[in-house]
Amino acid sequence: MNNWQELEKKYYMKTGNRVPVTLVRGEGARIWDDAGREYLDFVSGWAVNSLGHCHPALVKALTEQAKTLVQTSNQFYTIPQIQLAQLLVENSCLDKVYVCNSGAEACEGAVKLARRYGSLKLNGAYEIITAFNSFHGRTLAMTAATGQVKFQVPYIPLPLGFKNVEYNSIEAVREATTEHTCAVMLEPIQGEGGVNVPDEDYLASVRAWCDEKGILLILDEIQTGIGRLGTLFAYEQYGIEPDIMTLAKGLGSGVPIGAFTAKDEVCVFVPGEHGSTFGGNPLTCAAACATVSFIIENDITANVRKVGQYFTGSLNNLQKKYPFITDVRGRGLLLAIEFDREIGQDMLNACLENGLLVNCVKPDALRFMPPLIIGNSEVDEALGILDKSLSGIDS
Ligand SMILES: *Cc1c(COP(=O)(O)O)cnc(C)c1O
Repeated sequence: MNNWQELEKKYYMKTGNRVPVTLVRGEGARIWDDAGREYLDFVSGWAVNSLGHCHPALVKALTEQAKTLVQTSNQFYTIPQIQLAQLLVENSCLDKVYVCNSGAEACEGAVKLARRYGSLKLNGAYEIITAFNSFHGRTLAMTAATGQVKFQVPYIPLPLGFKNVEYNSIEAVREATTEHTCAVMLEPIQGEGGVNVPDEDYLASVRAWCDEKGILLILDEIQTGIGRLGTLFAYEQYGIEPDIMTLAKGLGSGVPIGAFTAKDEVCVFVPGEHGSTFGGNPLTCAAACATVSFIIENDITANVRKVGQYFTGSLNNLQKKYPFITDVRGRGLLLAIEFDREIGQDMLNACLENGLLVNCVKPDALRFMPPLIIGNSEVDEALGILDKSLSGIDS
């Protein structure tokens, strides 16, 4: 057998640390490594495999589309792209969709659209307010949008026009707003920043402020959208509507795809102002259509609410047993536990040893983002492994 990890070291550019496991095959919520070991996957390709691994509906759509048409240029009309746009519009408050290839690209597109809107309708306003501990992707501009110094410092100078402010503070948004502001861009719950859940009225307050100032609200639903929080989109739970919304991660259940969506009055691009070679290609759009249709037709969001509630309850019980768990938070199937010490990586390793994949989102916190199709039995299994892994820690 090849030593893949040695080969990786030799040939692959290092940009981050990996868990020392080589994954080769997946099915549902299970994944196997090259030694044949089975794991319960509560990472799901980073909240991506919404239907689990290799779901029959996804495989069928990909296989059929691969045999039919994979790529054209966007000079031509293609059917899966239009079907996906229709599906997203008919099931959201947004009116138009643009399909791209990743989350960072979706946020870039959203920011470009907001700037274009600012230049045409808001006297040239261009500045975007974003939050500390946010995550909007790794392009240069999205590094400036992402309010985390560790991602920004290596790449100074960063593109101008972003103001990072405290999350969950309407005051901070108000103070940062000037005549140059064209939009506020926020995650409904901050995912990469540590599963940070804002106060119940935060998004509504920001929405009201944006309305008062005539500026746009961009919701980055790349992690929270497509059912992850128990509704198709997170904004539904906060009684507000964004002007622009970005999607990616769970949209294609594993294929690289992103999208930004907007209200009609915000769609100010004219031909030539934005584009992409691969964006919206038939293969990825067919996969996304199959994913979103499956979620809607099978009421997967109800499952997310039910299993999410059960999972949260189980984690709360775990906290009673292990008081060094200081917080249980999140919604639907985007959950986290925080510890009073930095044992995240040790716990990840212990879970791995016991057959469960989790994410160490911060040195002192674990994040869980299982496929949306799991049941209570997978939660029980995961909790058993967590319990076993935590039992080695001194209170
Ligand atoms: C993951 C993520 C992104 C970036 O997506 P990529 O596909 O990695 O570029 C942007 N915003 C949020 C909220 C995310 O969770």
